[in-house]
Amino acid sequence: MKAAVVRAFGRPLVIEDRPDPVPGPGQVRVRVEASGLCHTDIHAAHGDWPVKPSPPFVPGHEGVGLVEELGVGVTHLSVGQRVAVPWLGWACGRCEHCRSGWETLCEQQINTGYGCDGGYAEKMLAWADFAQPVPDGVSALDAAPLTCAGVTTYKALKVAGVRPAQLVAISGVGGLGHLAVQYAKIAGATVVAVDISDEKLRLATELGADLVVDARKEDVGAVLKEHGGAHAAVALAVDEDSFAAVNSGLRRGGKLVMVALPAHGTIQVPVFDTVLNGTSVIGSIVGTRQDLTEVFELHAAGRTRVIYETRPLDTVNDCVDEVLRGEVRARIVFDLGAAG
Ligand code: NAD
Ligand code: ZN
Ligand code: ZN
Repeated sequence: MKAAVVRAFGRPLVIEDRPDPVPGPGQVRVRVEASGLCHTDIHAAHGDWPVKPSPPFVPGHEGVGLVEELGVGVTHLSVGQRVAVPWLGWACGRCEHCRSGWETLCEQQINTGYGCDGGYAEKMLAWADFAQPVPDGVSALDAAPLTCAGVTTYKALKVAGVRPAQLVAISGVGGLGHLAVQYAKIAGATVVAVDISDEKLRLATELGADLVVDARKEDVGAVLKEHGGAHAAVALAVDEDSFAAVNSGLRRGGKLVMVALPAHGTIQVPVFDTVLNGTSVIGSIVGTRQDLTEVFELHAAGRTRVIYETRPLDTVNDCVDEVLRGEVRARIVFDLGAAG
């Protein structure tokens, strides 16, 4: 089987021919149909973060495909069933986080495409308990971006506690942001989308944003304040300065939800304003299996639109460059047989 492999940080990925992986107990082998390119995969391939993966590894945590072989003990999935293999590849199920509905905080978790091989491949392994069944009516190509970009932004809005009639800023309308805009609208909010690209701001409007702000030309915090300040701001732009910009546009009691993970990212939070205004800064990491179930249900019900461009896996290095240049409309999805 063909796989795109990170052999060294910051080097082009290498397309390799590898033997089909064999599922261990509790695992399944998936024949991948579609696999999304999340900006996280680029951070992984560059070794951007304090906790690094170990090359060689296969990135990708938006892999969707058909179960091809069941490992010992797997009884709830069947061969031929469509599943998605998210970032949360495995969690212990026993710790306080797992038991309290926060499996995404499990300290023993294994992350797909980071701690084990991921979806940039024709075949991949998944732990059956964390392989998410994809409902009928959700195509593999749509399911792929929902598997990370969808669940992550859906969860971020839950964490922010967004309610109808609130003002919500979505900073960065890329793979994640184009879905965040839609979930914020579904929650009933008035949505302000922020980006630095005309094309992405146009897309945000098309997807329901009530107001768009071009961070190249406008003072994001000031614009938000003119509208009374944001009840919540979701930071999805891979640019640490953008975090402080939206933070300065919160209304009293507002929440900044940090999601993007720029390399070496730090932000300055003014103590006085934060205390006096009672604002919060919260981190949010992907979403649980239940969150992903809800994301798929919303999509099956026709309530979200996934915007993607398909590419062959062997163009992966060009695709990475396109994402870094900000040229991708929302998401690139590698088509590994979804069309056929
Ligand atoms: P992306 O490249 O598709 O989108 C980033 C967007 O930010 C682009 O539209 C870009 O034009 C915009 N942008 C850049 N600078 C900006 C600025 N100053 N102001 C406003 N917008 C700006 O990336 P993505 O796949 O959506 O991922 C975004 C980030 O989220 C990455 O850092 C990724 O690693 C991270 N991520 C985090 C989680 C999590 O669970 N916390 C999950 C998935 C991805
Ligand atoms: Zn991701
Ligand atoms: Zn756990």
